[in-house]
Amino acid sequence: MSGGDNLDFEIRPNPAPVTAAERDALLVNPGFGRVFTDHMVTVRYADGKGWYDARVEARAPISIDPASAVLHYAQEIFEGLKAYKMADGGVAMFRPDANAARFAQSAQRMAMPQLSQAAFLQSLREIIRIDQDWIPQNDEGSLYLRPFAYASEVFLGVRPALEYLYLVIASPVGAYFSGGVKPVSVWVTPDFTRAAPGGTGAAKCGGNYAAGLSAQAEAIENGCDQVVYLDAVERKYVDELGGMNVFFVQADGNLLTPPLTGTILPGITRDSVIKLAERAGRRVEERPVSIDEWREGAASGQIREAFACGTAAVITPIGTVKSPEGSFTVADGGSGSVTMAIRKELVDIQRGRAADPFGWVHRVL
Ligand SMILES: *Cc1c(COP(=O)(O)O)cnc(C)c1O
Repeated sequence: MSGGDNLDFEIRPNPAPVTAAERDALLVNPGFGRVFTDHMVTVRYADGKGWYDARVEARAPISIDPASAVLHYAQEIFEGLKAYKMADGGVAMFRPDANAARFAQSAQRMAMPQLSQAAFLQSLREIIRIDQDWIPQNDEGSLYLRPFAYASEVFLGVRPALEYLYLVIASPVGAYFSGGVKPVSVWVTPDFTRAAPGGTGAAKCGGNYAAGLSAQAEAIENGCDQVVYLDAVERKYVDELGGMNVFFVQADGNLLTPPLTGTILPGITRDSVIKLAERAGRRVEERPVSIDEWREGAASGQIREAFACGTAAVITPIGTVKSPEGSFTVADGGSGSVTMAIRKELVDIQRGRAADPFGWVHRVL
């Protein structure tokens, strides 16, 4: 059951918001995911009733029964997107309709009720409006929005829950890289896979992240920033990083990226990169890329650059690739020119500094 095409949000302003002086101090160097705004959105769902009790209220702890289904069987999904201060002083979100569509697909995969696109978008506009003073003013910062939903029914039986809670929280974030974009090193894990065919790889669910934490820890132990997963069947083809999709720039300037076959997350940044590259006259091949092709391509110069992309860091060059068989670098291990040009094009559209040929920028204020 989907329901809730439009919801009436009851607005209950926080009676004790953070003072302007405290907020300004928090916004100086917020980092990522540590500072939160004064409000949150909550919407309840019950089987037979649909979505109800939509509210914007003071951000506060939620009480959760120890038998809530999510604590046992992990029926949970989330999204992540950003609101930006635009060059003209207004506020906009980047492609929130795509997040709404993906949230609905994730819900379907996890046997959860779908929230309408209209209600999802409205929930984002409501929290941006009430917490607009929390959006960093500087060129690098943004307000990270985290919509999520979980099974709140108090029941230990194994079946899709009959009650859910949808929330949106907001977190001002600074530049992902202090001191400019730096290439990351990645660890090709021999021990773990992220998603198998038929699994939940294409759904944005907390469970995928829980299952990836050991692999990420292994990457850190091996001196790398991030883990790169190979496919679960042949252990040969590059899937993605723990939370970012991967692209390769070939010698002729065309791009190469693994296809969406159900085991990788369909990133909105990935889709945006494809559309921007094609508009610039680059061909984008979506096909399996083996780790051997990457290693040999880096050695021969056939693969000239590699980068990872996702909402949090936008586009990140990949410098060094390490595995138990040894390591190699892509070109000189630095930030490639095609990578950085695509990054700039995307960020300029997001910030309202460049024309928006695809209608991606969604004005809120
Ligand atoms: C969210 C996510 C991405 C990136 O998606 P964007 O829509 O570009 O932010 C990539 N991989 C995984 C596993 C993710 O969860």
